Amino acid sequence: MNDSYDVIVVGAGPAGSTAARFAAAGGASVLMLEKDRDVGYPVRCGEAVSHEGVVQFIEPDDRWIAARCNRFRLISPSGQSVIPRLDGLAYVLERRIFDYELAKLAVKEGAEVVTKAYVYDLMKNNGTVEGVRATIKDRKVEIKGKVVIGADGVESRVGKWAGIDTTTHIRDMESCAQFTLSGVKVDEDILDFYFGEAVAPGGYLWVFPKGKDSANVGIGISVELAKQKSAVRYLEEFVDRMYPRAAILTRIAGGVPCAKTCDEVVKNNVLLVGDAAHQVNPVSGGGIISGMIGGMIAGQVAAEAVQKHDLAHLVEYGKRWQKRLGWRHEVFYRIKEAISDFSDETLNNLCESGSRLPDEKRTVGGIFRTALWNRPSMLIDVAKVFIS
Ligand SMILES: Cc1cc2nc3c(=O)[nH]c(=O)nc-3n(C[C@H](O)[C@H](O)[C@H](O)COP(=O)(O)OP(=O)(O)OC[C@H]3O[C@@H](n4cnc5c(N)ncnc54)[C@H](O)[C@@H]3O)c2cc1C
Repeated sequence: MNDSYDVIVVGAGPAGSTAARFAAAGGASVLMLEKDRDVGYPVRCGEAVSHEGVVQFIEPDDRWIAARCNRFRLISPSGQSVIPRLDGLAYVLERRIFDYELAKLAVKEGAEVVTKAYVYDLMKNNGTVEGVRATIKDRKVEIKGKVVIGADGVESRVGKWAGIDTTTHIRDMESCAQFTLSGVKVDEDILDFYFGEAVAPGGYLWVFPKGKDSANVGIGISVELAKQKSAVRYLEEFVDRMYPRAAILTRIAGGVPCAKTCDEVVKNNVLLVGDAAHQVNPVSGGGIISGMIGGMIAGQVAAEAVQKHDLAHLVEYGKRWQKRLGWRHEVFYRIKEAISDFSDETLNNLCESGSRLPDEKRTVGGIFRTALWNRPSMLIDVAKVFIS
């Protein structure tokens, strides 16, 4: 390891590894620091991604694909289900291996990766960031970097050290819990989503198959609602009811920032990517692919800035992110605000009208349109999505 790099990436999750890969591919010298002993572990994720999302970055590989799903099923509070038509494939990953592979792609491009490397501060000169302070295998070190990319996840501190406001409003923070179950009967090609006040108020509960007899069963509800009854409690009740004989092999809990992207993602030579920048889809809470897209753009821009000897160029990152996905996340945020208030009656209605649609019209958009047609009062809810 040297004592100076063009780009230092803090955190080796999907966003960090992708940032390191594209910065190195653009000609920058890159160091990625990961506080844990292993890249990709512990896993705190439902592990579902779309095929289209993955293939932008890596060829699908059976070693890190636990299940291939070509349908998803929405289950209403009354228990009725509808299976919208899905043009495309979804994967349930083995993230432990997937994250490893992403880090290997970064190494292949020339990035250096160090694990057990905890970054505890930034080096600054008159407010300008010039590197990081880290504890690497119990030794305190200072490493210079022209650009620092904060990919340190939902509990990010890099942004705050750089003077970026990364606070998530409590109403936008989802409290999540998940059990990985074994000994369960699940449809291996369907992603299940359960809705309703009793199951997951203001959020949803998922059952994602992980091959034969195994599944990630998880829940995300707003932190505000979780104060009255925890996400874990809702999940335990569901699992007791649906899978009383299952073995719980893993239990995890964590937060997901279902917010708009941070107002600032670039400051003082620091770029934020992934969960650290709130690049999660605010409706679904999915952040793997969107974080990788953020990482890719940040890596590219960082390398360009270094090659041009012009760090002012870093502002391009915020602009390109906004053009690529940021604007969509703003629309999704408004949709989230409207649908999180849907009553059980509205959800039942959506499901019922959707299930009566002919196969070719049974898409998510089609279900929405039919529900509106049958129940014009819902127009007010939908109008809220587009008029803030
Ligand atoms: C229960 C749950 C279920 C989810 N399900 C899905 C899903 O099905 N699909 C989906 O797309 N998304 C899902 N998500 C969201 C997804 O997990 C995240 O959006 C994604 O992991 C973000 O990637 P990231 O690289 O930004 O951060 P992370 O994957 O969190 O990686 C951050 C890395 O930074 C390291 N780090 C942190 N601080 C430091 C430091 N100071 N120094 C060095 N290293 C540091 C951490 O150890 C970690 O390895 C889920 C989240 C939760 C909590």
